[in-house]
Amino acid sequence: MIERVDVLVCGGGPTGLLTGLGLARQGISVAVIEKCQKSEQAKFGRASLLYPRTMELLDQVDVWEHMAEIAHISRGYVNYNGGKRLISGTYHSIFNQLQGTYFDYVVNIRQKYSEEIFRKALEENGGSFYEQYELLSIVQDDDAADDYALTVRVKNNATGEEHQVKCKYLVGADGKKSAVRQLSEIAFVGDDTGIKWFRMDAVVKTDMPDARVGMASIESPIYGHVLWMCQDHGRTRIGFSLPPKLADRFGTDITEAQVREAAREAVAPFSLEFETVDWWTLYSVGQRVAETFRRKRVFLAGDACHSHSSGAGQGMNAGAQDALNLSWKLGGFLKGWYDESVLDTYEEERRPEAQRIIDQDKTLSALITGKIPEGVGRPGATSFEVLGDFIASTMRYTLGLDVHYETNLLNQKANIGLVSAGWPGPDVLLRRPGSRISLRLHQVTKNVGRFHVLVFTGNPALTGESLRSLRSYMDGEDSFTHKLPDIFNFLTIIPGDAPQSDHYLGIGRFGKAFYDSDMSAACKYGFSAALGGVVVLRPDGILGYSGELGEGKELGEYFLRFVKASVESPQEPIAKKVAEIESKPTGEVEFDGETTETKPVANGVNGVHADTQTSIPIREGPTETSVAA
Ligand SMILES: Cc1cc2nc3c(=O)[nH]c(=O)nc-3n(C[C@H](O)[C@H](O)[C@H](O)COP(=O)(O)OP(=O)(O)OC[C@H]3O[C@@H](n4cnc5c(N)ncnc54)[C@H](O)[C@@H]3O)c2cc1C
Repeated sequence: MIERVDVLVCGGGPTGLLTGLGLARQGISVAVIEKCQKSEQAKFGRASLLYPRTMELLDQVDVWEHMAEIAHISRGYVNYNGGKRLISGTYHSIFNQLQGTYFDYVVNIRQKYSEEIFRKALEENGGSFYEQYELLSIVQDDDAADDYALTVRVKNNATGEEHQVKCKYLVGADGKKSAVRQLSEIAFVGDDTGIKWFRMDAVVKTDMPDARVGMASIESPIYGHVLWMCQDHGRTRIGFSLPPKLADRFGTDITEAQVREAAREAVAPFSLEFETVDWWTLYSVGQRVAETFRRKRVFLAGDACHSHSSGAGQGMNAGAQDALNLSWKLGGFLKGWYDESVLDTYEEERRPEAQRIIDQDKTLSALITGKIPEGVGRPGATSFEVLGDFIASTMRYTLGLDVHYETNLLNQKANIGLVSAGWPGPDVLLRRPGSRISLRLHQVTKNVGRFHVLVFTGNPALTGESLRSLRSYMDGEDSFTHKLPDIFNFLTIIPGDAPQSDHYLGIGRFGKAFYDSDMSAACKYGFSAALGGVVVLRPDGILGYSGELGEGKELGEYFLRFVKASVESPQEPIAKKVAEIESKPTGEVEFDGETTETKPVANGVNGVHADTQTSIPIREGPTETSVAA
């Protein structure tokens, strides 16, 4: 067992593993401890349904591709009442509202499989995972001689041995009953609803039509809204509520045979036979949020700081958002890049989102159970109709596509363009120089803790002056890139398909050049050929800033608000780790049966790529085109 680590993450569930992965990808020393022997877990269920925004985030930390191999990918939904197909219905709106992402589907993959992939990625990136180690206590020494101010006592649950681990920061991702939250005396505010839900994962046979289309629901007169989701490995998740009037029938020592019987009744009039039942649960729905997500050097993430029903399948999705919001901020802070105020933005951004999920869950969980809360719905509508309306009205949020953050230190008001600061930067198609094959922006803006600066050049015949002004600012002594550490990945996005970017632009490009043949990428971000524009995407893909093309100083001011100027750049071994990830080949999107191979290119300082060094000089001066930023 390690004795000292920069960040100790307590909890090897999805949130803890993704927090660890996010940190490890930045080269931060991180260890995740998990009290159970997860790799030997016999029965497993829990999180299954994942949404597009989560997939985008997972894609940017290079785990999505592995999950897609296993997950059941759903692009369709059917809904039944009394054995008859209803054209629209409760979850129908999923597939009506899936615009604005290349992940235009939802998936079901059981948590165990997601965790396996996250664990492997964590370890491959240099993070450590300790199974069967349980956190027992935390001591914080505010006067510690070094920065390792936390001492955590852990117990090996296999041998009974106890150890001490010293760390700079502790992340409590240890679930609903979080020991870290309790030991840090952080209140978990909220209620238990009294609602109980069944969930089971099984291999089934049924005469329900289109049973493997992906998502389905059955409107049951006894069990309310019955959920039916196709999962990995040919499994089906069936979920339904326990009506209070049936509670006595099941009693407290409920058996699997009773659950099978209830499931048969719930999906009636369709037949249901079980080949195997992997897992089932009857769980109580609570809705709680931690009063704070941070106490000094302790952060909370995932279920440890918010808990609600699984009606909208939000728990793991929200945990992934927490993990990938916190990890780049904490990683950058530990490298000495940011003011501590950046760490405050984690709670500022994520706590209101947790509260929003809980507020929605109050109505949703009641409706799924068959109750219409006071003041909700239209007169005369059934609970199923009201549920359908409610789900439709909140669906963009559920899909993660409406999750956004307020203006703060990191999300500056965008003056130009169509995407507001605090919203995810849309994924768009680009081409590499010379390539007729498109690739997604997100494939070249991976999350390694660096900011992506997108320079939309517009048509240089019209934007020449602004381009020269930006180039001259960047090359000048006052450029922020000379003062600040190595946190920028510049991309120059050029309309059309010119044979050579620097000549076409009349200046040296910024970082790597990409072509936006039909200007669809620029249009999506709201930039014209006549003006162009600049966008900053945070490491988690959220738009932090957008401004005019020629305004290099203003761009610099965005960073100077929170990035510390004094750090040497690049830092070893962190820069090495990041460069290693960034230089991995990127699979380009295939169109018309065409494929292409991409060559890895080593990254240098401030996003200057090896190939940039050889670009054609177009004007006199020492900085020339080799200075990407
Ligand atoms: C029936 C059901 C269905 C669900 N379906 C979905 C869904 O479809 N989609 C979705 O997004 N979410 C779903 N959820 C919610 C989802 O499972 C959780 O939100 C998710 O597991 C949260 O992940 P986490 O890592 O924050 O916490 P957890 O998964 O609870 O992981 C916490 C980990 O910490 C460990 N731990 C606890 N205490 C200690 C300690 N002292 N020391 C060391 N380790 C410790 C635990 O063993 C555990 O492995 C569902 C939940 C349930 C119950």
